[in-house]
Amino acid sequence: MKKGKVFFVGAGPGDPKLITLRGLECLQQSDVIVYDRLVNPELLTYAREDARKIFCGKFPDRHVMRQEQINDVLVREAGEGQVVTRLKGGDPCVFGRVGEEAVHCASHDIEFEIVPGITAGIAAPAYAGIPVTHRDYGSSFAFVTGHLRDRQEDHRKWEAFARGIDTIAFYMGINKLSHICERLIEHGRDPETPVAIIEWGTTENQRTIVGELHNIVEKAEQHNMTHPAIILVGDIVTIREKMQWFQERGFSRLTGV
Ligand code: SAH
Repeated sequence: MKKGKVFFVGAGPGDPKLITLRGLECLQQSDVIVYDRLVNPELLTYAREDARKIFCGKFPDRHVMRQEQINDVLVREAGEGQVVTRLKGGDPCVFGRVGEEAVHCASHDIEFEIVPGITAGIAAPAYAGIPVTHRDYGSSFAFVTGHLRDRQEDHRKWEAFARGIDTIAFYMGINKLSHICERLIEHGRDPETPVAIIEWGTTENQRTIVGELHNIVEKAEQHNMTHPAIILVGDIVTIREKMQWFQERGFSRLTGV
């Protein structure tokens, strides 16, 4: 039997129109769509009516399908000749575990392709009126997971985040917000460094709050900020006052600084 193929497609950060043309093409032509929770469900309406849609979960605290099961589904379906789109929120290569899934496909001789997407760490700030780089505000930008494994919790890493990087986008960090702020301050970042938290970025439910390292935890609690959210740390956050363009539900004037 002829083998199928797996397309690892970035669905974009939330606004369904932010998927790429190539991504849309894969979605429209696939036999099977395997998708995560952070994928906007509206995108599934572009799939063929007869396409099988498999939800594989990925909630912060529980998984509907374990990673090994997802890997097996991809290999099984493509092995049976199906064209599979593995639709992931944002970009599949940014905290998307595409490395594990693609290596699994490769080791089973399953052909695959990667279709990049727009990652939340760039798009959510953009929709909040904050460009992640600006030559007047620094020259470095980092993607960091708030979900650091214990062994990654080393002093040198936090020192680099605190002193060496102008703008940092923390993913999966909302439950670790106080830890992140404390570590940065402890390692030398100015407590008055501006911070933005953007929840459900690029969607109609987007909310943004702005504060500083020393008070953002309190503000986040006040406004009940929750997952999914990007925590953006850096002086560039202040530009939002001049660049805000996307109307957020009830929060368009909340800047906090
Ligand atoms: N591959 C994805 C990231 C997956 S990790 C990407 O490139 O965007 C999941 C984390 O992404 C969430 O915890 C949150 O920090 C961030 N995220 C995803 N969608 C988001 C959104 N619409 N608004 C804000 N943050 C988002």
